Amino acid sequence: MQNYKAPQRDTLFVTNELLGFEEHYQRLGFEDATDDLVRAIYAEAAKFAENILAPINAVGDDEGCTFNDGEVTTPTGFKEAYRQYVEGGWPSMSHPVEFGGQGLPYSLSTSMAEWFSGANHSWAMYPGLSQGCMETLKAHGTPEQKKVYLEKLVEGSWTGTMCLTEPHCGSDLGMLKCKAEPAEDGTYKLTGTKIFISAGEHDMSDNIVHIVLARLPDAPAGTKGISLFIVPKYNVDADGNITDRNTVKCGSIEHKMGIKGSATCVMNFDAANAILIGEPNRGLNCMFVFMNMARIGTGVEGLSATEAAFQGALTYAQDRTQFRSMSGVKNPDGPADPIIVHPDVRRMLLTQKALREGNRALSIYCMQLVDVSQHAADAQEKQMAEAKLALLTPIVKAFLTETAQETTSYGMQVYGGHGYIKEWGMEQLARDTRICTMYEGTTGIQAIDLLARKIMGSNGELLKVFTGEIKEYCASIRDKQQFGHWSNAVESHVDEWLQMTQDIGLSAANNPEELGAAAVDYLMYAGYVTVGYFWLKMAVVAQQKLDEGTTEVDFYNAKLQTAKFYFDRMLTRTRSLVSAISSGSENLMQMDAEHFFQG
Ligand SMILES: Cc1cc2nc3c(=O)[nH]c(=O)nc-3n(C[C@H](O)[C@H](O)[C@H](O)COP(=O)(O)OP(=O)(O)OC[C@H]3O[C@@H](n4cnc5c(N)ncnc54)[C@H](O)[C@@H]3O)c2cc1C
Repeated sequence: MQNYKAPQRDTLFVTNELLGFEEHYQRLGFEDATDDLVRAIYAEAAKFAENILAPINAVGDDEGCTFNDGEVTTPTGFKEAYRQYVEGGWPSMSHPVEFGGQGLPYSLSTSMAEWFSGANHSWAMYPGLSQGCMETLKAHGTPEQKKVYLEKLVEGSWTGTMCLTEPHCGSDLGMLKCKAEPAEDGTYKLTGTKIFISAGEHDMSDNIVHIVLARLPDAPAGTKGISLFIVPKYNVDADGNITDRNTVKCGSIEHKMGIKGSATCVMNFDAANAILIGEPNRGLNCMFVFMNMARIGTGVEGLSATEAAFQGALTYAQDRTQFRSMSGVKNPDGPADPIIVHPDVRRMLLTQKALREGNRALSIYCMQLVDVSQHAADAQEKQMAEAKLALLTPIVKAFLTETAQETTSYGMQVYGGHGYIKEWGMEQLARDTRICTMYEGTTGIQAIDLLARKIMGSNGELLKVFTGEIKEYCASIRDKQQFGHWSNAVESHVDEWLQMTQDIGLSAANNPEELGAAAVDYLMYAGYVTVGYFWLKMAVVAQQKLDEGTTEVDFYNAKLQTAKFYFDRMLTRTRSLVSAISSGSENLMQMDAEHFFQG
């Protein structure tokens, strides 16, 4: 099995050379986040991912979690790794000092979260869900709730979950049925069943804080009648001391395709003690804070699988020998040439490489926008960052996870039949990352969020803000003639994107199905163009470094060569997407539902 290596160099290229993080952190007031400190933290995170998490990845897949009378035991090594994670201070990194955090930026912890997930997706789910719980409490908890719950979560001795899904409703949360009845002391008694709850029960922490969506007795129907509650596994007193067991219990865990070390739980709430967070009936609004970050986090999971599949495939392609190169022998001392000489193997590797680096640039850019939206002093700058983030979040979630399906499939394909065999780890990656297009809102739901809610809902304003940035950048490099071709390609795609949006808007005015019919292809189109923009920027930076006489000539040349691959062979995928989008909804909607099966 391939040893996972945290992509420190490439991450630093994006943060420091592409996005100017050194200045970004200082400007937002993170004086402590100096380049030296960031590099030191990255080095420790890499060690944790490579030496602690990666070795128990296959173990987690083999053993899975075990369930016994409401208790869940995680695979060998998971609990110990979590203990080391807490001792290393990782849970508290980007939380405020007042709650025991280290006050470092969100982008710092989230860019490293890619490595934890790349080393061990299942394990990374446990702290990942906790982060969501903490963000929700930070944004909407009362001072008392923060004192009692947040500090323990930040410290890592407790973990958290997000309980949304019920058996009859996943995407359409307006249908949820869990009920919360007011108790006399101002708390609530919450009753109902949640399914598919990641980290709902496990043996890694002293308490589990469930954030649960439920309805109050007089709540209006639909999404306007949902409230948000804290339900701890163990009840706690006002000082945060554990008292007795609450009446929430894990009923079973799912047997599933991948992420077997992550417990996916049915959670039964039987008049469980619950505390309201935020305003009554505003639960879904409160949840959006968490959801946006969780969506970026899920996109990053997709990226992490792309990275791990690329690393495995590349090592194998350099080692495995089959046939001779068509252009002449490349490995005269061996019986055959390594398969990396063959154009088709290179096509697969370069697809992985182009997506690994392009998607990383896009995701870290979004993390930078989160930093700005949380900490910028200037209100207008904050607003711009929020607008771009709103547009890019569904793209990051869906594009990075959809492309991970292709890259992990290539991970197996480069290995040939060996890719299908468990021992190499490639099939585990493909199984583990399959869930990413489904949870945290499916690709279909992200696409509707992008096209209908964000773009049409803002009359195209959100799109104009981001495409404005792209156009401005293209204008700023007009004098760099060697990039004229790629820059024109990006600009003409932006014009096409804007025009296509208008066209869809016009046809949707006559037929609302046009939005749904276009949505997923539209999102993928947006993804390829956005990543194209980042490839253009990365190529410009790489050329600049070469012109300045860098010693890392191979690193920057590889960037330029990968950019060429992206522009020649990947951005061009937009042609078939445009064709599908412009074909409209009739080819999808004309068949009666009962006529789909014809024998
Ligand atoms: C391993 C795992 C872990 C999970 N972890 C959690 C967790 O921690 N907490 C939690 O609350 N949930 C969790 N989930 C649940 C997950 O978020 C849901 O499965 C997901 O939101 C989809 O809901 P659903 O399964 O009910 O599918 P449905 O909503 O029934 O959707 C089925 C299909 O219909 C499509 N569809 C539905 N409506 C539309 C529409 N309007 N337009 C176009 N297409 C549409 C969807 O895209 C999808 O393809 C987890 C699930 C799994 C499998």
